[in-house]
Amino acid sequence: MMYDYLIVGAGLFGATFAHEMTKSGKKCLVIDRRNHIGGNIYCENINGINVHKYGAHIFHTSNEKVWNYVNQFVDFNNYINSPIANYNGELYNMPFNMNTFTKLWPDVKTPEQARNKIEEQKKVLNGKQPENLEEQAISLVGVDIYKKLVKEYTEKQWGRDCKELPPFIIKRLPVRFTFNNNYFNDRYQGIPIGGYNVLIEKLLEGSDVELNIDYLKNKEKYNSMAKRILYTGMIDEYYNYKLGNLEWRTLKFENEIFNDIDNYQGVAVMNFNTHNEKYTRIIEHKHFEFNDCKGTVITKEYPSAWKLGDEAYYPVNDEKNSDLYKQYETLANNEENVIFGGRLGQYKYYDMDKVIVAALELVDSEKNR
Ligand code: UDP
Repeated sequence: MMYDYLIVGAGLFGATFAHEMTKSGKKCLVIDRRNHIGGNIYCENINGINVHKYGAHIFHTSNEKVWNYVNQFVDFNNYINSPIANYNGELYNMPFNMNTFTKLWPDVKTPEQARNKIEEQKKVLNGKQPENLEEQAISLVGVDIYKKLVKEYTEKQWGRDCKELPPFIIKRLPVRFTFNNNYFNDRYQGIPIGGYNVLIEKLLEGSDVELNIDYLKNKEKYNSMAKRILYTGMIDEYYNYKLGNLEWRTLKFENEIFNDIDNYQGVAVMNFNTHNEKYTRIIEHKHFEFNDCKGTVITKEYPSAWKLGDEAYYPVNDEKNSDLYKQYETLANNEENVIFGGRLGQYKYYDMDKVIVAALELVDSEKNR
């Protein structure tokens, strides 16, 4: 059978693209090397709890089009992410807001006092424009919060000094002078009712799907089956690392299942902000879904450097890797029939809503070819 599109990777990017192309009358074959669909948003049901197997995913967007788009397929609950940061047993609200400031600085009671405190503390920068994550963090929240809640967490997460990381990573987090613990500023937020698998299953309806297929080992065969190819795996792996390998961060997940504890930490996400714990956070999955079942499942998340055979989760968008990616991108742009998409294909720290936007843009450009 000749397909219009071979889509390598059954994650959110590939599934969205497959859905739209199928809808417009194209035949799509979606393949994945894992034994399940969904990429990193896949959930595994353990004891009635949807466990985010490849890391916690919270859907949030300000893009009405994207929100309406996903709501065609699945309803969302009213989960609002409000993680807790644990600094050696002291608990602080995230993101950085009046709850955090007043607990950390007992003399601070008003937004003005909080602003003044931060202004005072950022004087160490001498008015310099932030050029790295450390300077960006100090400029946003001052030295105390940087030291307690940012520095060591970030070092664990990225395996490098905050001075060697780009400022944009910390700009993902809101800083607010109100008592508002919502981790995101977006207008819409929630977790799909029934879990993310429902969304992906719906997106893939009408496409052919083959699992446990290593595309790169069967390239000739699969290339001959389709007119065009969307590749959503790691771009450097596609080129057999011929220009050198891009650096990625990977995560190891350690699940613990409790039958005798119904509520382990009282919140879905608790960050551990010092080097005393090797993990960066503990996820208690049931709280994403207000699930009041017996027992609970928690996951400790251990970041480390990616090596061959590991799953890639985060691109390391420092200068060196961004330059190397650009070289791979040049190769990719010269491909006649292969398109690269998604976090791994574009070496981009994409959130889910941005993945959908990008996949829909690709759909438009394919339709206009
Ligand atoms: N971060 C931090 N302390 C925290 C949480 C986050 O310093 O308690 C920083 C850290 O550098 C991290 C970045 O903020 O990489 C972005 O965090 P986010 O929660 O958006 O990361 P993700 O959920 O994508 O892993």
